[in-house]
Amino acid sequence: MDVPGAGGSRVTDRTPKYDIAIIGGRVIDPETGLDAIRNVGIEGDRISIVTEDAIEGDETIDAAGQVVCPGFIDMHHHNAGVPFGEKLALRDGVTTPLELEAGVYPVEGWYAALEGKCRTNYGASVGSIPIREHLFNPNYKTRFAGDFVYDMLAGGANTTMKWSTEKVSGDQLGQFEEDLEKGLKQGAVGIGHAVGYMVGGCTQAESLVCQKMAGRYGQAVFLHGRFSSQMPPASGILGFFEMMGPQEIYGGGLVLQHMTAQTLADTTTALDLVDNAREANIQVLAEIYPYNFGGSIVGADYLHPDNYQDNMGRDYGDIIETATMEPLTKERYEELNRTAPGTSIMFYNATEDTVVQALANPNTVLGSDAFPYTIRASGEAALDWDVPFEAVNGHPRGAGSHARLLRWVRDKTIDIPLSLAVSKMSFMIASFLEKNGVPQMANKGRIQEGKEADIAVFDPETVTDNATMKDGGLPSTGITHVLVNGTVVVRNSLNIDDVFPGKPVYGSGKVA
Ligand SMILES: [Zn+2]
Repeated sequence: MDVPGAGGSRVTDRTPKYDIAIIGGRVIDPETGLDAIRNVGIEGDRISIVTEDAIEGDETIDAAGQVVCPGFIDMHHHNAGVPFGEKLALRDGVTTPLELEAGVYPVEGWYAALEGKCRTNYGASVGSIPIREHLFNPNYKTRFAGDFVYDMLAGGANTTMKWSTEKVSGDQLGQFEEDLEKGLKQGAVGIGHAVGYMVGGCTQAESLVCQKMAGRYGQAVFLHGRFSSQMPPASGILGFFEMMGPQEIYGGGLVLQHMTAQTLADTTTALDLVDNAREANIQVLAEIYPYNFGGSIVGADYLHPDNYQDNMGRDYGDIIETATMEPLTKERYEELNRTAPGTSIMFYNATEDTVVQALANPNTVLGSDAFPYTIRASGEAALDWDVPFEAVNGHPRGAGSHARLLRWVRDKTIDIPLSLAVSKMSFMIASFLEKNGVPQMANKGRIQEGKEADIAVFDPETVTDNATMKDGGLPSTGITHVLVNGTVVVRNSLNIDDVFPGKPVYGSGKVA
């Protein structure tokens, strides 16, 4: 068959043939600045060629009118390695979801359980939350990413809440430090430290141990800061200083996860701080999810009225009970905290203007904070691949964050070039992780010859998120093809269920 190449050249007998040929798409490669019509040839798990010349493939993907870009990397994904979460992530263009905020423990067992079973790449940090739980409850081990949250949602069958409230000090702090190191040696991608869920339990000494260990191993800390507040004395920015102080002394990277949820009306100051830190060559990165509401449990420290009203400027009615979509009242809030503090809720935090302003900053990246879903009818965790998209409750960010930013670019909600939006979801993240102890990232986040073939193809005119607060599991549309390590996992906008090309992503501390 005679197929025109991207540059008008024609297929002949001597046209090179690849496993897969993605033909005629607008290729965006943020690192090189390439933004032009090209053909992409894939051989095995790698990109073999990016060319204007005609190529052929055993499988041909016609990408005319569509964008071909690096598959998205998400540092903040509580459904990493969970089949239902992977199914949604892939439809949103995410090829590498990583559980870096909450983390896992023990690390080795988590990776081993996923070997050969993932449609996406997968990786996790070693987390202070699961280490703490293990210290207080030696039987605990992370079964799957997000199981902490599932467990809280289910009333804490496998976990205690001691991890949130108890101090780790003396000999236990020494054990904590050993466990962190053990996790890094087993290949964890940095250290997850969600201080904001253990405001009264975590000491500054413990935070210091985390950042110091990250510095020693050239890794990053992934932080849910201690405070969500725009008011003194305990502001979101002060929560960042808790880690930035030790970082200045001991080094290591630092990712300020869902930054706007912490800094609220102080976001302009926080963005300046991060920009200036980066100019001073300090490895700090701010990450944002593109929603003006978060998802959590009703017992979360920062939702207590002392904080949520006084420091965040919100009220009971700004908290929505996920199961019923009803706003809370004072009475309902108090009742749930007494009887079921693990109840799933969504809560308004930073304004949409603040979120857009933060995402428009050229130094910030997107992280979805994809949150565990539950099956609406039974309340059980939505884990299996076969769970229908329509059957679940949960925050829409687990389904639509990436397509939402692409839609915002199109409808001018946010005034940034499409290539920058793509970079914030791929290359900028790969580049930060590569500098902070994840050497594999040198081969991700790029559409270049020799790089790993994690690729998303989307229609810039139609790509959109569909998930809402009420229907949080509806997949994004307009992302037509997705490849993980050279294997097609989304074809013509449909998930492929019987391929498992996902590979582990490890930190550089891994001992062979
Ligand atoms: Zn968080």
